[in-house]
Amino acid sequence: MSLNLKFGAFKSYYDEGMSAYTKGDFSVSREYMLKAAEMCSDLATQYPTADMRAEFKKKGEDILKFIRTNLVVRPKEEVVSGGNAPSQKADNLESAFEPMPKDQFKVKLTDIAGLEEVKETIKKRLILPLKKPEVYKEYGVTAGGAILMYGPPGTGKTMIAKAVASESDVNFFYVPSDKLVDKYVGETEKKIAALFDKVRKNLPAVLFFDEFDTIASERSADDKVAKMTVAALLTQIDGLGNDTRDMLLLAATNTPWLIDGAVLSRCKNLYLPLPDAEARATIFHIHLKKNLKKKDIDYVLLADQTEGLSGRDISKICEEIRLNLASRCIETGDAQICTMDDLLEEIRAAKKRPRPNLRMFETYNKEHSKDML
Ligand code: ADP
Repeated sequence: MSLNLKFGAFKSYYDEGMSAYTKGDFSVSREYMLKAAEMCSDLATQYPTADMRAEFKKKGEDILKFIRTNLVVRPKEEVVSGGNAPSQKADNLESAFEPMPKDQFKVKLTDIAGLEEVKETIKKRLILPLKKPEVYKEYGVTAGGAILMYGPPGTGKTMIAKAVASESDVNFFYVPSDKLVDKYVGETEKKIAALFDKVRKNLPAVLFFDEFDTIASERSADDKVAKMTVAALLTQIDGLGNDTRDMLLLAATNTPWLIDGAVLSRCKNLYLPLPDAEARATIFHIHLKKNLKKKDIDYVLLADQTEGLSGRDISKICEEIRLNLASRCIETGDAQICTMDDLLEEIRAAKKRPRPNLRMFETYNKEHSKDML
């Protein structure tokens, strides 16, 4: 895309975002403003003059700040102050959080294609210390702490969390972050405290937060509920380093740049990039393996044609093909075979869908390289 087109796209995202904001449609506004910030980050590296590059860098940062402080996705109803909150006893709250059944996740690190360095790090730094704490203790190493996995959507963050759970064989708590957010002042903090208390009673354990930005985004001073939520999280994360050594907090997000700075500074970072060619070929292998007749599949060509797509995109392509073949089988009454033509057609469709802007991740990685796991 030329610079002019990019600037035009930035303007229209920004205008749409502001218009949705003034109508009070915050989640739509957030989507547009995120896209506007992504465009700024492109423009900030591509403009030929230094002052324009600096201008777009600043504009991008301002937009992110605007999102953090004004475009928090909230529970549907209005925030209600403390007096009306249905009072819940700590025990009741705790009982809402249970570890997942141990045999729930069968994912192993070896089921995850590519990401070799990430998997090695996860094994050495997380799985083995959780599994064999006594050995690690002898060498002065303890498990635990807080780790933020981030990267484009569909790159395997949830898979990694599940693999940690199944391979370390410790208790695994998985609470979707939006389940913790409560409209009543004071209730979200109570839920967070109850959750961490419950986990502490079930050590060793992994606590996994998906979409961490929902509860850990930076907020404006007048957003009381959100400020208190972040403060409650900070208290709990600080406790991890002190009294709770065999508890690991694993958090995942597609937008690390929205996370509160104080929370970020307490987390080690782990970047999950889009799969490389070899990993893409393996992901096709995995998803085409079972219950499918195939003919002349060229995995190298498939990998070649899918640069920029995520693992989830590839799994969706394969799922779509299975659906098409099944419906064709019903229509014709004949058994169907998956061919390269089927795959290439689905790949073309997948490539037309919007894709994440990697520039934001590059910038974030540069700024946080010292905090990498
Ligand atoms: P994220 O949490 O990063 O958004 P997920 O871990 O939920 O992504 O991945 C979504 C799906 O995409 C997985 O269930 C899997 O089918 C596929 N997938 C993504 N990355 C990989 C990978 N590296 N290897 C194999 N499958 C993958």
